[in-house]
Amino acid sequence: MKSLFFLIVFGSLPLAIFSQSPDETVIGEIFDNVLLSDKAYRNLEYLCEYTPGRLLGSEESVTALEYMKSYFEEMGVDTVFLQEFKTPAWRCNNTAVTILSGEGDIILRADALGPSPSTPGEGLVARVVEVQGLEELKTLDSDTIAGKIVFFNKPVNLKLVNTFQCYGSAIDQRYHGPALAAEMGAAGVLVRSVTTKHDTFPHTGSTGFEDRKIPCAAISTVDADILSDALKADNNMQVKMVIDAEDLLEITSFNLIADIRGSVYPDEYIVVGGHIDAWFNSPGAHDDGIGCVQSADVLRIFKELGLDNKRTIRAIMFMDEELYQSGGNAYTDYTETNGIKNYLALEADAGGFTPEGFTVDATDSIYDKIAGHKDLLKPYGIHYIRKGGSGVDIGPLKNFGVPLMGYRTDSQRYMDIHHSANDSFDKVHPRELQLGSGCLAAMIYLIDTHGL
Ligand SMILES: [Zn+2]
Repeated sequence: MKSLFFLIVFGSLPLAIFSQSPDETVIGEIFDNVLLSDKAYRNLEYLCEYTPGRLLGSEESVTALEYMKSYFEEMGVDTVFLQEFKTPAWRCNNTAVTILSGEGDIILRADALGPSPSTPGEGLVARVVEVQGLEELKTLDSDTIAGKIVFFNKPVNLKLVNTFQCYGSAIDQRYHGPALAAEMGAAGVLVRSVTTKHDTFPHTGSTGFEDRKIPCAAISTVDADILSDALKADNNMQVKMVIDAEDLLEITSFNLIADIRGSVYPDEYIVVGGHIDAWFNSPGAHDDGIGCVQSADVLRIFKELGLDNKRTIRAIMFMDEELYQSGGNAYTDYTETNGIKNYLALEADAGGFTPEGFTVDATDSIYDKIAGHKDLLKPYGIHYIRKGGSGVDIGPLKNFGVPLMGYRTDSQRYMDIHHSANDSFDKVHPRELQLGSGCLAAMIYLIDTHGL
């Protein structure tokens, strides 16, 4: 019986291999290739090691683009160029936040939010009003707030399973808090870092000012607890904030664009991209060096396997997702001005952990067509293809009817490290990165082969 069992089970294997569809065969070759290639991983190592803190306008941001440009040139893509645009920028040179205490000052680990103004003179010294979010601040009168530092201390909601939702549960106080506090006459703002981790790393991010700008910074979650306890012990105690930052009114910056020409419809572009910029306090490994090196890897895979793409496949390293989104807007303007047809755009900017799925922002019929590819990608970790958002950089293309997609990975560790010094190369697992490159390449192969 035993030998008959083996004959039935294993005897059927050659037949199964023989009966693979052409798509299954190509996708198998893509993953065979990518799981043995360390090119993307080594590119990410370079970006994290030599160009950390590559915020828009920084020297590091230009070095990162130059490095990736030479990589594309070596690869022998058909076209590679820097797409130039003008934009305002901002730079942070220093952040220091200290609790002034008779028993000895306590330094809080802090990073300015972008684009915070500098503190005046030798620094801002003021009493602190703690609130648990925007709604509580609105219940206070301006006399209580005037001249004070408002401290937003709402933690993220850890009961939410997807950590992007945890982030979403507290991001309003970082994004809208400084503007509201400024309107009510506050002198400065401190925000509890928007993260799932209880640690000593400040997690920065952008804030949206309206008319009046006031100095603002994120402090680590451990330090937020220290500050809250200090206020409970002495409600009159003061905090000193020192921020040295500058607005750059207009700079020249770039997106990096690399193409491999399509054999049948060269004027139709399938875009795959990530953003090259990262916060000044972070190596930007998962956010979003990885999206850039994986997008570059898609072109490498197509070239190494000699896949005959019908449409032009375009990898873009977008500049400035984090602060003003100037790169994404500039690419959309560029394609509109030049009449370029973006057939579809796919962004990888949700971390580089184990693959989970794709989201699609397109018409029902296009969604159905893309979702039909799910079973082919299932063996490689894609559990879902569902409707949802895409990416900040490709978002503006939606106004012009371009079908958009986002690549999604397991989110559990992402918000532990997001926008902090902890988003470093050692947090990236090479196989998870490689599987991500494979998923992007396989999805683009399927879209190019079968159309929308
Ligand atoms: Zn990002």
